[in-house]
Amino acid sequence: MQFRDLKHQYEVLKQEMDTAMTQVAASSAFIMGRQVKELESQLAEYVGVKHCITCANGTDALTIALKIWGIGPGDAVFVPDFTFFASAEIVSLEGATPIFVDVDKDTFNIDSESLETAIKKVIEEGLYTPKVIIAVDLFGLPANYPEIRKIADKYNLFILEDGAQGFGGAINGQRNCSFGDISTTSFFPAKPLGCYGDGGAVFTDNDEWASLADSYRVHGKGSFKYDNVRIGLNSRLDTLQAAILLVKLKAFKDYELTDVNKAAESYTGILSDKVKTPVIPQGYYSSWAQYTIQLDSREQRDRIQASLKEAGIPTMVYYPIGMHAQTAFAPMRDRQSKCLNTEHLCDVVLSLPIHPYITEEDVIKVCKVLISNL
Ligand SMILES: *Cc1c(COP(=O)(O)O)cnc(C)c1O
Repeated sequence: MQFRDLKHQYEVLKQEMDTAMTQVAASSAFIMGRQVKELESQLAEYVGVKHCITCANGTDALTIALKIWGIGPGDAVFVPDFTFFASAEIVSLEGATPIFVDVDKDTFNIDSESLETAIKKVIEEGLYTPKVIIAVDLFGLPANYPEIRKIADKYNLFILEDGAQGFGGAINGQRNCSFGDISTTSFFPAKPLGCYGDGGAVFTDNDEWASLADSYRVHGKGSFKYDNVRIGLNSRLDTLQAAILLVKLKAFKDYELTDVNKAAESYTGILSDKVKTPVIPQGYYSSWAQYTIQLDSREQRDRIQASLKEAGIPTMVYYPIGMHAQTAFAPMRDRQSKCLNTEHLCDVVLSLPIHPYITEEDVIKVCKVLISNL
């Protein structure tokens, strides 16, 4: 059994995919070919924002957002403690200070109360200026944007939505990657919408920021490529990846997102009275980058993971270490408030195999082995 079966996906899409890739090879427009523009327009339309600017990966997409806002030394950026390292790394890379905020135990996403407490503390201390809230749509579930927006407005902060895992999720029909002042996603192969390598995108309704994003991704270009008006990056999405994503986006819209939700429903139907299954608040829709259950203790989690492995079932621990506890962030640990929910989650979470092509039989098999080892 595969954790995320990308081979199966390729077999299903093979004919269209091979044609798409061959076309790019034949055209030899490998950089900024027509497929890049076509993809950007389809992504913007799907998400429901005015502009989509693709780039080389999800980490660069986040970096470009911070550059657009001029975030740097002296600025505080609030980041959920329970996330992938990149959400926090980019803050330090720009010379700003990440402030780690505890998450909600049910949704895994940034906790609004802890967020406001952290903002107040930074203002009180007066060492850094609060500028940005990075909200992550962890495992595919949108963060609590109605509450986060209230807080952002109250303290005059930007929201940067890290939708790397969230493409396709929604709140009451409004899609992920449209909630931030700037939002980003990643097309890393294992994400809900993945390419055959690295890729990412920036989304915004703001015309000026969109044109800055376009500049930053091509060496800070001005009116043309060799007019360089700011320090930027080399961060374009290859035409080949764009062509691949056009095929995948169609499958994603036509059936993949629905099918992965069906798989999640099957898991929850079988497991919900045995272990703590993912909580999807009323009106929320997940794109199920991961299906993550919570066990009772680290011992039980590790034991069950080993039993599943023995039965040929791959699982993952997303994530074993919170940001505040990462060695790279050790220098700022003294100023950091405790993130007790994150610490607990790191001990008890277990992500099960899930993807649009998983069969009902496989879901049942995973659940059987899991339940028999509780
Ligand atoms: C994967 C991921 C990223 C980084 O995306 P890359 O394309 O790998 O650079 C950022 N944030 C989160 C939450 C992610 O899961």
